[in-house]
Amino acid sequence: MSKYIFITGGVISSLGKGIASASIGKILESRGLKVSLMKLDPYINVDPGTMNPYQHGEVYVTEDGSETDLDLGHYERFTNTLSSKFNNITTGQIYNSVISRERKGDYLGKTIQVIPHITDAIKERIRKCAEVSKADIVIVEIGGTVGDIESLPFLEASRQFKLDMGSDNVFYIHLTLVPYIKAAGEVKTKPTQHSVGTLREIGIIPDVLICRTEESLTDSVKEKISLFCNVKKEAVIESPDMDSIYQVPLVFKKQILDEIILSHFKLICKFSDLKDWERGVVNRVLDPKNKVTIAVIGKYIELQDAYKSIYEALIHGGIHNDARIEIKRIDSESLDKGKIDKVLEGVSGILVPGGFGYRGIEGKIKAIKFGRQNKIPFLGICLGMQCAVIEFARNVCGLAGANSTEFKQTKYPVISLLQEQKKLKDLGGTMRLGAYPCRIKKNSLASKIYGKTLIYERHRHRYEFNNKYKKLFESKGMVLSGINPGKGLVEIIELKGHPYFIAVQFHPEFKSKPDKAHFLFKEFVRKALEKAS
Ligand code: GLN
Repeated sequence: MSKYIFITGGVISSLGKGIASASIGKILESRGLKVSLMKLDPYINVDPGTMNPYQHGEVYVTEDGSETDLDLGHYERFTNTLSSKFNNITTGQIYNSVISRERKGDYLGKTIQVIPHITDAIKERIRKCAEVSKADIVIVEIGGTVGDIESLPFLEASRQFKLDMGSDNVFYIHLTLVPYIKAAGEVKTKPTQHSVGTLREIGIIPDVLICRTEESLTDSVKEKISLFCNVKKEAVIESPDMDSIYQVPLVFKKQILDEIILSHFKLICKFSDLKDWERGVVNRVLDPKNKVTIAVIGKYIELQDAYKSIYEALIHGGIHNDARIEIKRIDSESLDKGKIDKVLEGVSGILVPGGFGYRGIEGKIKAIKFGRQNKIPFLGICLGMQCAVIEFARNVCGLAGANSTEFKQTKYPVISLLQEQKKLKDLGGTMRLGAYPCRIKKNSLASKIYGKTLIYERHRHRYEFNNKYKKLFESKGMVLSGINPGKGLVEIIELKGHPYFIAVQFHPEFKSKPDKAHFLFKEFVRKALEKAS
């Protein structure tokens, strides 16, 4: 039978609940346990797929093609778990399923209520995740902040879980903020007391408090939190700001958070000191020998979270190559007008990530042209590949005004709508999503990078390379080096005679890990380092 850990957040949002959950997954997995991590999102959208990146940040795509919360990216990067549609629930999904059951008459005339019908549906989904994953421990992160109206059904369901499963099988962790007040010259525990008080009103008594702080907490502060919040002193875990998120598992490990959880569950597990992680990830990320600047050219640049997996995958490429990656975030719209050589001065690699809509496209195309002509390593991802195709069409093949039909009606639609997309009406969950096979051409750059000829990568797009232009492009020096075997769709393009010009229709960033950087990012950073030296 699985055990369950519920993780709630208090005081403010953005405390790093996802990273805390992933880190707890890491320290438990290192003890030989199989973990699965879930995110419960209180919003009414069925999934984040149709949300604006400014509202939600990155949409993380799983192998099975679910569009999910970006915290699932942390879960997959920190642990060896693979997530699926069972790992992310939203209020929208829960209500959708309850209402459609009601319409079918499944409730036999009962009045449908939040308790028990909505909470039952939530619990069913959590148990389903345990069943599908066969995890020893299911870690359930509840989105939002305690006190929000919209997360109440999730909190109520997690309270009931202890009653259903027995207290030995359920564990509650509350992540809170202990702020330092400059004028008073001390840290304040009151917000934490209030937040725990609110949880207790709901009927949840936390077993552990993780306190986010700027600095370490003194013993007397921990004692005070322990007393006022009714949590054992050793279960008051401090989580000070760190240089790298990958240090967090070590911070928890040092305070024996794994032991505290295991002894509650009465589990005896093999020992682990996380030395591999410390040596292979943390030490390398904190103290690299080299440094290289890589430009990420996107239109959601101001928002830290919009390209989360891309930034992390670049860091992973850096870890592999013993290099610190200075990421220069460039707003593609600003490139429409500005002097490109000035903006890209000192940049040794150009990455153009995915995206939707015409805004900022011309700036991306300009940057790709600059990278192509000046032999700067270039990695294009999804929309980044489509922009590289448009640039090549216009400036090498002489197809003036070539474009994607996503943006403009054009004489040369070098990127056009997937056949299967033409008849679709709904926006939600209807893109080409999830892992698909890709056959790699022998002797191509891609085959050298991957070292194999059949790969599976995750997708999220509606448009594709228009195969009508295949011959022309190849005759002008573009190698179409990755093709979907069933449909003949172009998945990878590269350029002859350029040290590293590669673009892919899929999203390699979703499969990169700190201790196992994705092939494309490893090689991209290596080439960027070569360019810099
Ligand atoms: N907008 C493009 C498409 O739908 C690219 C999508 C993406 O970059 N994820 O095909």
